[in-house]
Amino acid sequence: MIKELSIGFAAAAAIIMIQQGFNVVPWFFMAGLILVLYYMVGFKGLNKSFSAVDGSKGSIEKINFDRIGGHDSAKKELLEALEFVKNSKLIMKMGIRPLKGILLMGPPGTGKTLLAKAAAGYTDSVFLSASGSEFIEVYAGVGAQRVRQIFNQAKEMTKKQNKNSAIIFIDEIEILGGKRGSHGGHLEYDQTLNQLLVEMDGISCNDQTKILVIAATNRSELLDSALVRPGRFDRMVNVDLPDLEGREQILKLHTRNKPMSKDVNLKAVAQDTFGFSGAHLESLTNEAAILAMRDKKKFISQRYFLEAVDKVMMGEKMDRKPDIDELWRIAVHETGHALMSETIRPGSVSSITTTSRGKALGYMRQTPDRDFHLYTKEYLEGQINILLAGSLAEEEILGSRSTGASADFQQAIGIAKELISSGMSTLGVVSLSDIPGTILHDVISSILEKEESKVKEVISCSSNLIKEVADYLLNQEKISGEAFRKMLFSCGEKLKISS
Ligand code: ATP
Repeated sequence: MIKELSIGFAAAAAIIMIQQGFNVVPWFFMAGLILVLYYMVGFKGLNKSFSAVDGSKGSIEKINFDRIGGHDSAKKELLEALEFVKNSKLIMKMGIRPLKGILLMGPPGTGKTLLAKAAAGYTDSVFLSASGSEFIEVYAGVGAQRVRQIFNQAKEMTKKQNKNSAIIFIDEIEILGGKRGSHGGHLEYDQTLNQLLVEMDGISCNDQTKILVIAATNRSELLDSALVRPGRFDRMVNVDLPDLEGREQILKLHTRNKPMSKDVNLKAVAQDTFGFSGAHLESLTNEAAILAMRDKKKFISQRYFLEAVDKVMMGEKMDRKPDIDELWRIAVHETGHALMSETIRPGSVSSITTTSRGKALGYMRQTPDRDFHLYTKEYLEGQINILLAGSLAEEEILGSRSTGASADFQQAIGIAKELISSGMSTLGVVSLSDIPGTILHDVISSILEKEESKVKEVISCSSNLIKEVADYLLNQEKISGEAFRKMLFSCGEKLKISS
């Protein structure tokens, strides 16, 4: 309405001025310039509205802690901190200062946003959400203004909705809360962070609206020390990748609304998905449903879940079709990996395939028998053995190696470096960065050569088995861990690795 009135008024004024003989060109020029500034330079952006849980279109979905699988210790720590918001009267009586900020730290997709949303539901607070990047503009002062705005919006909404508290969630806090002076003299970042510190310092027990800031980051090491000092973000909650039990719980949560076949074993899927985040697991259940639908099935069976694991881990199936010689080489290579894996850790092979996915032309997937939190020397050496076995199988059966092993070698070198930096090499306890390049190279080579000789021994006495399995792969494209173990057993190969 105001917009229409202004346009009408401006047009009328322009006509009168032209009739009176005024030169209106400079006025038009000025008005045009102001309009450009308004839309492009960001004046409009100053009046930013942040997403909130208020039932309006585009608002954030309300959730509770039951919708979050795993993370028992993170939930416990968060719930404890939320008591400060719930029982603020008791907190005041005890003379405890209010908790102003909680920092959720962890890898992407582990459920930090979900935890913050659930915190708002649990405390019956208004929930406002923004990403660190929403505060930063190239124009000085915009970020600080937006920080003031989100705090004001939180207070206004709390009053409007007759609530006592508000939770402001800032995702990717490292964008606005990075170490001051680290942005190449860009003052806008520093001003924005200063404003956030000022707003957080202003939070008091006597405020009518209790405000709690929950921030999330994958890069806590980048945060300014002023932000993480006690009195600001004084609770740090680790939200790590889910463990086996957590993965099973998350899978259960995301399959509740899906038609499941009776053969589905979510525990087995959880075992196959070590290192997956909650977001990966959600995507896995979705992909399994899509695959079942493509096959016109009414129920999702276990094989769709297992295929979805491959898809989420390695990427979509690729159209590239290697010729028969290349396929034979790929089959031999992957069988080499699988043979070594089964030799070192019986029962560890989950599947072998020559299907191209993502960058891989074929792959062997392992199922860890448990979640690992630390790795022994023997385990790491075993992993090097498995990585080297692909190329050595090619050499044994085809008489030459190929470029297909370069990624394996890079990984093997990475593990060798881990052995050195953990003091498990002949160099003893050393700092990797202090070792001269030639010495580092020599030690890595000697580790790899020693492991190579162990692998060669196993591969050379199993060439018939490798050919048989590779032949099967050439015809069938894929072989399951169980079928592979049956072939091993029927071949009667004696797989003994020399120590
Ligand atoms: P980022 O750091 O990338 O912002 P995040 O840690 O905030 O990620 P969320 O946005 O909370 O992750 O999670 C993304 C999606 O992954 C959720 O919408 C949910 O479907 C799924 N998810 C992640 N963790 C869990 C969990 N613990 N339980 C159930 N679902 C989960």
